[in-house]
Amino acid sequence: MESYFEFFYSSPNFEEIDAKSIRYITDKIIRKSDAALAVVLGGDTQTFEMKMEKWDELTHKLSSISGIIFLLAHTSSNKEVYNQANQSIQVLQRYGNGLSLNEELYKSLKKYSQSDDARWLKGYKKKFIKETIREFERNGFALVQQDRDTLRNIKDQLSDLANEFSRNIAEHQDQIIISEKDIEGLPEDYKNRHKMEDGMYKITLDSPSYRPFMRYAKNEKWRKELYIKYLNKGNPKNTDILIKTIALRNQMANLLGYKTYAQYVIEERMAKTPNTVWNFEEELTNKVKPKAEKDYKELLSITEGKNELKSWETGFYNNILLEKNYNLNAEEVKQYFELNNIFKGIFKICKDLFGIDFVKMYHHSVWHEDVIVYEVRKKHSVIGKMYLDLYPRANKYSHAACFGLVSGRETPRGYQTPHTALVCNFPPSTPNSPSLLSHEQVTTVFHEFGHGLHQLLTKSPLAAFAGTSVVRDFVEVPSQLFENWAWDYDILKEFALHHKTEEVLPKELFDKMIAARNVGSGLFTLQQILYGTYDLTLHDKYNPLTDESPNELFNRLQRQITLTAPVEGTDFPSAFGHLMGYAAGYYGYLWAKVYAEDMFSVFEKEGLLNPKVGKKYVDKVLSKGGSEEEMSQIKNFLGREPKQEAFLKSLGL
Ligand SMILES: [Zn+2]
Repeated sequence: MESYFEFFYSSPNFEEIDAKSIRYITDKIIRKSDAALAVVLGGDTQTFEMKMEKWDELTHKLSSISGIIFLLAHTSSNKEVYNQANQSIQVLQRYGNGLSLNEELYKSLKKYSQSDDARWLKGYKKKFIKETIREFERNGFALVQQDRDTLRNIKDQLSDLANEFSRNIAEHQDQIIISEKDIEGLPEDYKNRHKMEDGMYKITLDSPSYRPFMRYAKNEKWRKELYIKYLNKGNPKNTDILIKTIALRNQMANLLGYKTYAQYVIEERMAKTPNTVWNFEEELTNKVKPKAEKDYKELLSITEGKNELKSWETGFYNNILLEKNYNLNAEEVKQYFELNNIFKGIFKICKDLFGIDFVKMYHHSVWHEDVIVYEVRKKHSVIGKMYLDLYPRANKYSHAACFGLVSGRETPRGYQTPHTALVCNFPPSTPNSPSLLSHEQVTTVFHEFGHGLHQLLTKSPLAAFAGTSVVRDFVEVPSQLFENWAWDYDILKEFALHHKTEEVLPKELFDKMIAARNVGSGLFTLQQILYGTYDLTLHDKYNPLTDESPNELFNRLQRQITLTAPVEGTDFPSAFGHLMGYAAGYYGYLWAKVYAEDMFSVFEKEGLLNPKVGKKYVDKVLSKGGSEEEMSQIKNFLGREPKQEAFLKSLGL
C-alpha cells in the first residue's frame, strides 16, 4: 500500500493488505494530513493555489485512503481485515470531524475568503470558497463560544439518539407461528426455509421472510397480523427518541439562525427553500392522484366484491393482478437476463453513447476472487477504473451500491483518474444455471452504473466537486436517468438473449413487461409523497411538545394524501429508519426523478444511442460534478426550463 499512498494512479495491492498495514496506513495518513494542514495554515501567500487547492489536496488524499478502507469494512472476507477496517473508519471519521471543527483552519480560510485575491475568483473556484466557508459556519463557527458549546452538545445527543433509533428497529424481533394450512400460497422453497421441527412455520419481520408472505399468503388474518407487527418495529421506545430528536434539531436550527431544521437542510440543496419542496409535493399529489385512483379501482376489480382495500391487502392483490390480467411470468423474463450479457450490453451502450471502452484487466489485484476489474478508456487514454463485486458473501454489504474509491482531481502530474466499485448481491451461477437476474435487478444494475458513470466521467479540477460530490437532491438524477435504458426494446434486444437458446427477448414478452410496468405506479408514488411530506412536516411545521403525536400526525397525512386508511394498532414513525438519515431530505428521490425523466425525454427524442446527445450529457452534466450549480447543469442540457410532463408520462399518466 506504500506506493499507492504516494500517488493513486496505481491501485492498492489488496493481497498485501492485512490488519497491521491498515493500522499503519491509518496512522500515516493522519500524520500526513496534519503536516498538510500546517501548510494550509502557514505561509503568507494568500492565493487560491496555496490555500484552497492545498486544502482540497489534503481532503482528497484523506478520502482516497478512507475510500479503500471503507470498501474493505464492507466487503472483506478476512475477519481481521474486516474488523480493523471498521475500527479505522471510525478513527478517520473522528479525524475528519475534528477538521471540520478546527477553528484555526476556519479563521485562516475565512481570512483568505475576504482577501483581494479571493474577491476576483470566478466559477468553480468562487463556488468552492463560498461553500467551504458556509460549511464551517453551518458547523457553528459564526457563533459565540457559549452557543458553539451548546451546538456541540446537541450534535452529540443527536448522533446518540439516531444510533439508538436505528438499533431499536434492527434489534426488534417479532414473529407469527402458523400451521400448514395458513401458509397456503407460499412457494415450496420458502416453506422449507421457515418450517420448524414441530411442523409449524415461523414467519419473522426480516425482509426475505416478511415480503413474500405479504405478497403470496392467502390467509388474510395472518397477513394483517404480520403487517401490524411490522409497523410496530421500534415501538414503543422510538416515539420518545423521535420527539427528542425533532426538538433538538429545531433547537439546533434556531441556534444557527434558521427558522426550522428543514430550512437549514434545504438551504444548500437544489430546492433551496422548504417552500419549494412544499409546492413540489402538493402539485405532484394532485397530478398523481387520478392515476392512483385508477390503480385502486383496478385492484378492487380483482377482489371479487370488496369495496375497500386495507394496507395489508395491496401487495397481495397487486400480485394477483399482474398474474391474472397481465399474464407476466417473472421467471420466464429472467431466462433472458444473464448477468455477463447485461454488462456486455451496458459496455456497448457506453461505447456508442460516450465513446468509452471498458477493457477487462486480468491479473489485477482485487479484494476477493469474485471481483473483476475494468480499465475505462477514451480514445486509448485511460480515464478511470471500475471494480465489479457482484455476488453475496458472509459479512458483505447486503444491498447494491456504487462505492467511490478515488475521485478525479487535477494535479501537477496530470489528471488523477477516478476509481469506482459496484458492490451488489446478485445470485451467483450454479452448476445448472448461469447468474440470471429479474428485470428489477437489471434496472438496479443500470441505476448503480449510472452513479458509476457520474464518477468516471468527471473532469472536475477539484476533488471536492468530482463525480457524485453534488447536492443530495441531485445525486439520484444520473442513476435514475440511466434506468430508462433497461426499458427500451431496441436496447434490450442487443443483449437480452435466452441463456440456453440465445433467442432474443420476444417482443410479446417485452410488451407484457411494459404493460405491467405502471401497474400501481400511482399508488406507489402517492406513498412516496406521503413519506416525503411527513418528513418535511416534522422538520418544518411541527412542534413535538405541543402538537399531536408523531403517529397521529402520520395517520392524518396518510388520510389526506393516500387512498388507504391508517391501520389501528400500528406506529409507522417508530419503524421509519430514514427519518434519521434523511432528515428533511426524503423528498430528494422523487425530486431527482422528475429531472431525470425530463432529461431522458431528450434522449428519447434524439436517440438513446445518439453520440451527440451523449456528448452533451457528459459536457453539461456528468463531467461537472458539483463545480457548477446543479440546476444550471440541467437547464444547460435541456436548453430550456425543466418540466414535469415526462415524469408524469413515465407513471403512465
Ligand atoms: Zn442511487
